[in-house]
Amino acid sequence: MKTLRFLALEEALKRQILEPKENISVPEEFGKCVFNKTQMRRYLSSEAYDGIMQAIEKGVRISRKVADQIALGMKAWAIENGATHYTHWFQPLNEASAEKHDTFFEPDKEGMVIEKFSGDKLVQQEPDASSFPSGGMRSTFEARGYTAWDPSSPAFILGKTLCIPSIFISYNGDALDFKTPFLRSLTAIDKAATKVCSLFFKDVHKVNVTFGWEQEYFLVDEALYFARPDLILTGRTLIGHPSAKDQQLEDHYFASIPERVKAFMQDLEIEAWRLGIPLKTRHNEVSPNQFECASIFEEANLANDHNILLMDIMRKIAERHHFRVLLHEKPFAGINGSGKHCNWSLMASNGVNLLSPGNNLQTNLRFLAFVSIVLKAVYEYNDLLKATIASLGNEHRLGGNEAPPNIISAFLGNTISSILNEIESKVAQNHLSVSEKKALTLDIGKIPEILLDNTDRNRTSPFAFTGNRFEFRAVGSSANPAAALIALNTSVAAKMLEFYDLVKIYQKKGKNKEEAILTAIQKFYSASKDILFDGNGYSKEWHEEAKRRGLSVTNSAVEALAAYIQPKNIQLLESFGILKHHELEARYEIRLEYYVKKLQIESRVLGNLVDNHIIPTALYYQQRLLDIVLKYVQVFQSEEKIDVHKKLIDELNEHISALYSLKVSMEEARKQANMIEDIKEKAFMYSNNVKPYMEKIRYHADKIEMLVDNQDWPLPKYRELLFIR
Ligand code: ADP
Ligand code: MG
Repeated sequence: MKTLRFLALEEALKRQILEPKENISVPEEFGKCVFNKTQMRRYLSSEAYDGIMQAIEKGVRISRKVADQIALGMKAWAIENGATHYTHWFQPLNEASAEKHDTFFEPDKEGMVIEKFSGDKLVQQEPDASSFPSGGMRSTFEARGYTAWDPSSPAFILGKTLCIPSIFISYNGDALDFKTPFLRSLTAIDKAATKVCSLFFKDVHKVNVTFGWEQEYFLVDEALYFARPDLILTGRTLIGHPSAKDQQLEDHYFASIPERVKAFMQDLEIEAWRLGIPLKTRHNEVSPNQFECASIFEEANLANDHNILLMDIMRKIAERHHFRVLLHEKPFAGINGSGKHCNWSLMASNGVNLLSPGNNLQTNLRFLAFVSIVLKAVYEYNDLLKATIASLGNEHRLGGNEAPPNIISAFLGNTISSILNEIESKVAQNHLSVSEKKALTLDIGKIPEILLDNTDRNRTSPFAFTGNRFEFRAVGSSANPAAALIALNTSVAAKMLEFYDLVKIYQKKGKNKEEAILTAIQKFYSASKDILFDGNGYSKEWHEEAKRRGLSVTNSAVEALAAYIQPKNIQLLESFGILKHHELEARYEIRLEYYVKKLQIESRVLGNLVDNHIIPTALYYQQRLLDIVLKYVQVFQSEEKIDVHKKLIDELNEHISALYSLKVSMEEARKQANMIEDIKEKAFMYSNNVKPYMEKIRYHADKIEMLVDNQDWPLPKYRELLFIR
């Protein structure tokens, strides 16, 4: 009988390349499915239009009357564009988006259908959402949470459904999603940055966070995917011997995109553009069958929604091309995993990118001020930042194969580092001679405007300055990036206020503004230099050094997550009204629960693979070898010349016994962990006692894969998953 693997291979090898569904004119179609400003102008009264603009720009509340008008216009637009349903679209704490569709149409008294969609349905919805993670914040008898419209992110049509971006909160006001605290953090940083801007500009009344993401992913043929229970159930391969060739020759990176993948990408781009997602680049990544797409940066709330939306449509469009998209951080052992680089900067209302160097002393003081503020935030809250990216998937990725190491450090590049060092050594001297002062200000004025070429050398730095922005690279490919950006925005906001106050203190002490700013830059830089690192992040020396510098060095996601409930971090997030203490406790708990549940599933799947796939295959091959031995002895009455056969039988025996006993021990460890009530203790048990068995089991399973007949092996091999496209 043919194994499922062979049936899958037959199917995968017969795949046709699907032409992209249609050819479109990009300018005409871009944003076609979005209720954007152009559509709002067409469908809304000027009162309604102004109301929504005020809400977006100034956070002004939308009145009931105006909400009704907006609902009317939005409905007309949606129905004209083929929508039949509407939903509040929100981001619960499970790293996906959620929707619950209601139709626009309701039967009236005469049995006819009428369209119904009013202001209150636009503004608020009550999904029966009791089974979303809440970390104990909603007891089941009071399980109602509600979703509320976020007017700052435009509604869009997905399929035949009008999607209304929303926040998700409980009845007593606790945030149950990513968007709520994310929006709050954007307000916090806006206020703080505007204050710091007043030191440099007269006309800045708002500062937006800009965010551009780069999304990495793998594609695997659908048939092969369905022949791997581990991929179906866990999103990654739990076993699989490395392919003889994978990424050593570096021949996949930036090579020409395989035709079938290109067709997928074209379809994806069309869909993304219609939804207003400005996808710009696409290319192969380092691992075989690994790819990346990146979008042009946008205001952060919108960019974040776009990333979540993109991950969703990616899955759907991959299916059309008989691919499955893997967003897991480490789908394959031994080769690169996938991350989501988050390019982050600040855009003032006068159009200045605050992290972009200028061409004179003034602009570069502004630039260095903001750089030193970000550095101090990342230094003081490196543990919190690390907690936001810690997950079971990222635990496999970080610290291996070109991923950033598991220690958050920052990288500035030579130009900026040396100018900051110069400032440090000179300003700290206090009494600069006139000529020294002149030399220093001259040097600051001379920072090249374009730094892009010489900044990005350290590709594995977790937090790198890349010319006019910072790039947070430790974020996992499947994560909702808002989790990381909430921490980044808030910690930076805190340091902005501190910086502003410091400048004011120096001014009071008699320094002129320039000197006061320069001194504040020096103080900030000196206090946070320990976050800077430009060496080999994987070395043992760095680990030791980082520990000495007080940075979080743990490799364990479970340990790293505890930073969510560190008093210093609670204080930070509470003081800006981002999340309250019990909300942070809840988030911490939810993340631990996810860790445990995912590991439990992985460990069960692995156990099943051992029992139902690997051991039976090994025994079958062993039985054939034994048959040969038996018959040989019968025929030749001698045991000479069958040494190899016996050796193979022995080898198989060793691996089978090891596999079996390790599996039993893993089950035992799991049982013990399952008996523990306390989630923190349970997560530690899973991480310390269950997880290590998985590596050991994998070792023997992969050995068996290499020993038995290729014809018998039931699971698609790495070389097939990675090279068939
Ligand atoms: P690389 O692979 O070299 O990092 P990419 O072109 O793939 O470069 O990605 C760069 C990303 O950085 C894009 O998403 C781009 O829009 C984003 N970016 C550029 N400038 C800014 C900025 N000021 N703020 C935020 N993101 C930015
Ligand atoms: Mg990048």
